[in-house]
Amino acid sequence: MRASQFHLSTLKEAPSDAEVVSQQLMLRAGMIRKAAAGIYSYMPMGLRSIRKVETIIREEMNRAGAMELVMPLVQPAELWQETGRWDKMGPEMLRLKDRHERDFALQPTSEEVVTDIARQELKSYRQLPRNFYQIQTKFRDERRPRFGVMRGREFTMKDAYSFDRSEEAAGRSYELMFAAYTRIFDRLGLEYRAVAADTGAIGGDRSHEFQVIADTGEDAIVYCPGSGYAANIELAEAVSLLAGRGKARQALEKTPTPGKATCEDVAALLGVPLDTTVKSLVLATDDVDERGQPAGATIWLLLVRGDHALNEVKAGKLEGLKAGFRFATEAEIAEHFGCRPGYLGPIGLKKPVKIIADRTVADMADFICGANEADFHFTGVNWGRDLPEPDLVADIRNVVEGNPSPDGKGVLAIQRGIEVGHVFYLGTRYSKAMNATFLDEDGKPKHFEMGCYGIGVTRILGAAIEQNHDARGIIWPTAIAPFEVVICPVGWGKSEAVRDEAQKLYGALLAQGVDVILDDRDERPGVMFADWELIGVPHRVTIGDRGLKEGLVEHQGRRDAEAGKLAVADIAAHVL
Ligand code: ATP
Ligand code: MG
Ligand code: MG
Ligand code: MG
Repeated sequence: MRASQFHLSTLKEAPSDAEVVSQQLMLRAGMIRKAAAGIYSYMPMGLRSIRKVETIIREEMNRAGAMELVMPLVQPAELWQETGRWDKMGPEMLRLKDRHERDFALQPTSEEVVTDIARQELKSYRQLPRNFYQIQTKFRDERRPRFGVMRGREFTMKDAYSFDRSEEAAGRSYELMFAAYTRIFDRLGLEYRAVAADTGAIGGDRSHEFQVIADTGEDAIVYCPGSGYAANIELAEAVSLLAGRGKARQALEKTPTPGKATCEDVAALLGVPLDTTVKSLVLATDDVDERGQPAGATIWLLLVRGDHALNEVKAGKLEGLKAGFRFATEAEIAEHFGCRPGYLGPIGLKKPVKIIADRTVADMADFICGANEADFHFTGVNWGRDLPEPDLVADIRNVVEGNPSPDGKGVLAIQRGIEVGHVFYLGTRYSKAMNATFLDEDGKPKHFEMGCYGIGVTRILGAAIEQNHDARGIIWPTAIAPFEVVICPVGWGKSEAVRDEAQKLYGALLAQGVDVILDDRDERPGVMFADWELIGVPHRVTIGDRGLKEGLVEHQGRRDAEAGKLAVADIAAHVL
């Protein structure tokens, strides 16, 4: 590629609404351009990196025996109604109607469509195991789109779905995907950790998140440096640890299910008429489905969000709201969470009723949470998220750090992470709901055992930059850099010797399969260097008349403090 023919569009400064460094740098490097909140165009420079990420994912998925397909972006409501998720998904799912007034959704995920495919295509145990994947656009109308491509509303995901004969076989599919993910994130060149994650209503231990380690991550990982133990803070154990060094778990188990109240009670509590539209709402259920969506019929805490009137709530129009509810007191919430009342301070739950009037959800913790196990529930999912950062992180740190690890092999430490991948054993939840069966060896129909496996393709770019940058710009891992090498000729317009040598080297590197760009814009060195350091190209080769007289060019790795001199013939060895 020649820079004169490429669309380079770097900015000196990031737009003022860019909050985190990856977002600022991607905008400045001309990798993305914003169209609306959480909705971006991937510009030519950004797309090069995205394609590299996709290629690595595709190669490893294929190696693991998964099969690529593409499922529709616009999905019919009927399939989502079969599993009950049309109602459960809530406002994160963007819905639309066609000209015949039929309901559709933009896919936030694809369990329903893929299960529908399986029940049509996979008739016999002989066709199993099967793993279908796609690299496709997703749309999630996130409550708080932010951080550029890291929490977009439209984004690219690789999502895979496995179908097996038995739970045991599904376990093998899970292990296969876990191994493939390990290869993928190794190849991407990122520092990451696979952590146990909340399994919600399904239970069991087969859910792992792949977290890229970065101080700006939205998730908090509790880990033990001395052993393999690592869990997302969302995990019940971590929450109970957080809540009071083990004591809390017992307290939680004994917590009685709070009683129910009517809308009238809530209205009375708020001191408002029943048709009042209330500003902010936080739902806490004692049950979530396996994707962390509220699934329970029991809503035990309700603060109101969105522009909904209480009587709408009463009519059951709000998702997940199928039973009565009431407000919990601060003491009850603290008890339920198993933490000291003061701990709730940062989340603003000191006076629940007040909050409704003058806080928005964005100020609070995400209370949609809790794994429901037998007769007790944990809440506190998403503790690390959407909060005024320093206070809460410090608070969690104080409570967690130095406590014994649940595996007894050391003490706990905490670090922040960005969830870039998620593997999940689903069991028969979807196959049962959609009656998706195959004929087993004994001639009897059986429900598929399923798993789902996601990777945030576009989020990976943001995560890579959060982890690898300096004051001058991005420092790409070579595997996903938009270009591996840039050749910067000094005096392109003036010196024939420089031009010749630059073009010769350019041709030679291309011939060796190096992804190289030749900066033939005839810019000053300062301009060229600033651009390519911002864009984060791993290797820069500078060719000038002075060096050429001695047969030398300069090579500088993006992390190197200064350039080294090399014979032209030795360049390839340095960049390969
Ligand atoms: P999060 O907890 O960050 O909201 P999630 O658990 O809802 O993510 P999954 O349903 O597990 O996400 O989806 C699989 C992957 O898709 C995630 O691991 C993440 O990398 C990516 N992803 C999810 N939501 C977004 C988003 N809004 N923008 C970009 N990538 C996303
Ligand atoms: Mg999410
Ligand atoms: Mg998550
Ligand atoms: Mg997830």
